[in-house]
Amino acid sequence: MTLLLAAGLLAHVGLRLWLNARQVRHVAMHRAVVPQAYAQTMALADHQKAADYTLAKARLAQWDILLDAVLLLGWTLLGGLQALNQWLLEWLQPGLLQQIALIVAFMLVGGVIGLPLSLLQTFGVEQRFGFNKMTPVLWLSDLFKGLLVGAVLGLPLLALVLWLMQTGGSLWWLWVWGALVVWQLFLMAIAPNVIMPLFNKFSPLEDDALKARVQALMQRAGFQAKGFFVMDGSRRSAHSNAFFTGFGASKRVVFFDTLLKQLSPAEMEAVLAHELGHFKHKHIVKMMVVSFATTLAGLALLGWLAQQVWFYTGLGVLPNMNGSNDGLALVLFMLVVPVFSFFLVPLSSWRSRVQEFEADAYAASQTPAADLAAALLKLYQDNASTLTPDPLFVKFYYSHPPASERLARMQAAGAAGGTA
Ligand SMILES: [Zn+2]
Repeated sequence: MTLLLAAGLLAHVGLRLWLNARQVRHVAMHRAVVPQAYAQTMALADHQKAADYTLAKARLAQWDILLDAVLLLGWTLLGGLQALNQWLLEWLQPGLLQQIALIVAFMLVGGVIGLPLSLLQTFGVEQRFGFNKMTPVLWLSDLFKGLLVGAVLGLPLLALVLWLMQTGGSLWWLWVWGALVVWQLFLMAIAPNVIMPLFNKFSPLEDDALKARVQALMQRAGFQAKGFFVMDGSRRSAHSNAFFTGFGASKRVVFFDTLLKQLSPAEMEAVLAHELGHFKHKHIVKMMVVSFATTLAGLALLGWLAQQVWFYTGLGVLPNMNGSNDGLALVLFMLVVPVFSFFLVPLSSWRSRVQEFEADAYAASQTPAADLAAALLKLYQDNASTLTPDPLFVKFYYSHPPASERLARMQAAGAAGGTA
């Protein structure tokens, strides 16, 4: 296991750093001139701001990659997790409580070590480019609210999972899977009404002209939503977005207030049509099915690994021979899986980009393609998304196709379908 981890980690870190360096080189190389296709629509200053913003984020990512690797080594081969476990065993009896304490302590330590980078991200990079609207007070209150919500929702789940691991027999992972699926559905059901209002204000959409447009579009598309809400995203960031949340009776459409300021009503309608496209093609359901299947595969793997002594010793931990090691197994699994699952990222990015194209095509069938094209260009510009990303970086990471590809398809759709 030690060798596997070392090889995996080396490949993981090497690949991430290499992709990052490629992105930096590509963006820097194209910084001087606006690409031909946008010469009419994008100012040089905006193009260069997007380049600088991308470069600043990439530089921060470099540190993030290295910190991740150091943390992983610190927890495993350098004995961090072993020490934490032994220390907790001096205070607590072996059992459920000690294992919960182990996992919570592990997460808190990781959170604290990650804080400086997160602060740099918000109050350094985002601030410098004018995107951050958060005050330190709001940042702190978010942090505490997040911890509280995490504790209230996460601790009972954690206790349940550990209990099932302990008592569920050799097929415990199947029970845990069932519990996680139910939990996930429960969270999705309560998110719009219970969790999200803790962090943001949602007010009904008041612009009647826009509401009428949006309603007409929804009717055409055969979609029922409980309501249209505007979220005060501008409290935290100048970035903008629109999304659907909830399902069943709590389904609703949410627009960021920042989006309303940036887009014309026709463009808003096009963005909503794109979101409806995701709904029409059942992307959310498909995503959930994939996620549940992956979780099941992961848990089955954990069910096997947790019984192998080398899984612990190879990762710098001595398993407890006459007690339960479920807490240790969970932590080790959380540490090691991302190293290897990273190599599957291009697959999920690719699937996501295909779905974005599908949603774009649907939008172009419901609203003039030119409206969505205009909206996208504005969004790329206002969010300072670079128009010249490295092609390989895109293939690996991008969940949304780069602007050039989306706009090219829209132009083709507009030309083929005319206006309807
Ligand atoms: Zn989309």
